Amino acid sequence: MSADEHRLREKIVAFGQSLFARGLSAGSSGNISVRLDDGWLLTPTNACLGTLDPARLSKLDDQGRLLSGDPPSKEAFLHRAMYEERAGARAIVHLHATHSAAVSCMHGLDHDDCLPPLTAYFVMKIGRLPLVPYYRPGDPALADAIRGRARRHCAVLLANHGPVVSGTSLEAAVYATEELEETAKLFLLLRNTPVRALDAAQIDELRRVFGLDL
Ligand code: ZN
Repeated sequence: MSADEHRLREKIVAFGQSLFARGLSAGSSGNISVRLDDGWLLTPTNACLGTLDPARLSKLDDQGRLLSGDPPSKEAFLHRAMYEERAGARAIVHLHATHSAAVSCMHGLDHDDCLPPLTAYFVMKIGRLPLVPYYRPGDPALADAIRGRARRHCAVLLANHGPVVSGTSLEAAVYATEELEETAKLFLLLRNTPVRALDAAQIDELRRVFGLDL
């Protein structure tokens, strides 16, 4: 195993512990993956993110076949669909975090952009967040629905389920997932309050200054 793979396995375990300890992934929900030069690593099926073993992470080839480790999460196909559409993605985090999941259950969301641009950080880390319609767990049609959205977006929200967020590194994917969860929390806190979100000129300024692809 390369030193790089060894380091990434340790990082998945450390981020898993951190997310679990802060209540962002209850029970055995949520999964984390990282792209390698010779495939990718994914957290195993029925694994609790709080007690991962670096040696037992699932290692998969580009077709999603298990090379080593425990059997992969049943949600492996969500990750694979995202990687196939986003060549620059090096890591993906999928959680059932409470506030993001709550928003994913709301009626009347804008399917092209389901959270308003409340803060610059949300705009910079997530941008526009599309909603992927509900499919039963394991339905292959869900992978196609993700593919259609992932081409243009680093993150998607699965209806009645939770977010899938990619990043150029594991840190970037985890931090963007946390930014999404915090923004979902703000959105719910502000539901009965008149809100001034960032306007088009302010978003355009962020796009220009930080080179965002929104
Ligand atoms: Zn899930």
